[in-house]
Amino acid sequence: MASTIPPHFVLVPLSSQGHIIPTSDLACLLAERGARVSLVTTPGDAARLQGVADRARRAKLPLEIVELPFQPADDGVAPGSEGVDTVLRWFQSLYRLAGPLEDYVRALPRRPSCIVSDLLNPWTVGVARNVGVPRLVYATPSCFYSLCDLNVATHKDKPEDEFVVPGMPMRVELTKSTWPLAFFSPPSWEAFLEERNEGLRTADGVVVNSFLDIEGQFAECLEAALAMPVWVLGPFFLNNRDEEALAERTDQYKPSASMDENAVTAWLDDMAQRGVKVAYVNFGTVVGMCAGQLYEVGHGLEDSGTSFVWVVREEETATLEAREWLEALEARTAGRGLIVRGWAPQVAILSHPAVGGFVTHCGWNSLLESVTHGVPVVTWPKFADQILNERLAIDVLGIGAPVSATAPVVGQLSVLRADVARAVSDLMGDGEAAQERRRKAKQYGERAHAAMEKGGSSYQNLTKLVQSFAQSGGNGTRNTTPSIFSTSAMEPQE
Ligand code: UDP
Repeated sequence: MASTIPPHFVLVPLSSQGHIIPTSDLACLLAERGARVSLVTTPGDAARLQGVADRARRAKLPLEIVELPFQPADDGVAPGSEGVDTVLRWFQSLYRLAGPLEDYVRALPRRPSCIVSDLLNPWTVGVARNVGVPRLVYATPSCFYSLCDLNVATHKDKPEDEFVVPGMPMRVELTKSTWPLAFFSPPSWEAFLEERNEGLRTADGVVVNSFLDIEGQFAECLEAALAMPVWVLGPFFLNNRDEEALAERTDQYKPSASMDENAVTAWLDDMAQRGVKVAYVNFGTVVGMCAGQLYEVGHGLEDSGTSFVWVVREEETATLEAREWLEALEARTAGRGLIVRGWAPQVAILSHPAVGGFVTHCGWNSLLESVTHGVPVVTWPKFADQILNERLAIDVLGIGAPVSATAPVVGQLSVLRADVARAVSDLMGDGEAAQERRRKAKQYGERAHAAMEKGGSSYQNLTKLVQSFAQSGGNGTRNTTPSIFSTSAMEPQE
């Protein structure tokens, strides 16, 4: 029997925008279903969550932003900084959040129902144990990647030239040059990665930002391998029902010089009116391009003859030479190319009818946003889960084609303009393969929306998740929810 006490979820995102943005979406989703939500953050990130806090206040959602007293050990060191050991030190500095989080939970009048922690915050394991509260892991990548990662961690055999990921429901092949990039584990990271894996193995369940129509088989395998519920609840961002809500959650990430969102939309509106299809090009927030690679992308877009919106990060045009080169390209492609410096309203762009394709680094949020809007992709992964997300897009979903046959090289020139031009022309063209990718993407897009509608798979899974913690009376009892795939799983009580 359901308790009258709404469950209380304490969400602990990783302090990085590709993680905080979807976690804040999840926070709103849970709060809109009546759960109390505490979104834990650092002083540095709290300002960026202002839009989410405003929205929660306006909608009277039971959602609070909790600012823990903490400064990272090395100021300015964050994911994306040069050097893998620098990034490792940044992850390690976050362990100092454990004390403040434990103090916060202990000071609450009631124990919360559950801590939902980013997979890359393994320091929450001890906190949850000390305060006697169940812990769910929010695995931010795709289920496909999480399952590959788990299987690789379990099977220690080092690969030969070709590496077939063990334990998968289909053949997933990586090469000698791509597998180390996918399962990034330099020796100095071993202890941290083992703690991360242990944090996953000892969790009470996993939360995933995906939907069953694209990842059901992998979620089911992940659930079996971990012997715990895997809650597939996405695409989270669809819960932002209008452009204002979408903008509000990301506004604080925009560099001040970014182009106004309305100007981008007006440009796309004009393209749509002229019946022109546009390729959208953005490589995410973590890994930038060297100048040589930037020039090849620009020339490739110019040579493709297609219309495009290209997002160039601020640091990629740090030199006067790069800025002048970009301005010259802008002049040559005026009328068919829009170059956005810094930050673009990605979800608004992908949802625009003028956009017909996305050249992406295959960050999970970007790929999911593309699939959800029925937009096929050119894949250009750099490292980590992006390498496996490319396989998902091409081999499983059939909505993607690679930018080139070359293996990814982080921070160096690896793809030439002819490859960019060919890939973009193919993506936007009328070839049979392009049409098939478009057809499949459209189908998945419709299913993504259906998953989040009342009665859809993600909607129902969220109902079950909230109910499973409400049933414990909000007193922190360990979650014994049955598999969401088993027939004995609870039926939602609307
Ligand atoms: N994003 C955006 N505008 C930009 C760059 C990124 O709105 O110019 C958003 C994008 O929609 C996505 C997130 O930032 O939600 C990036 O996450 P992803 O996992 O795709 O890649 P990452 O940046 O973490 O590599």
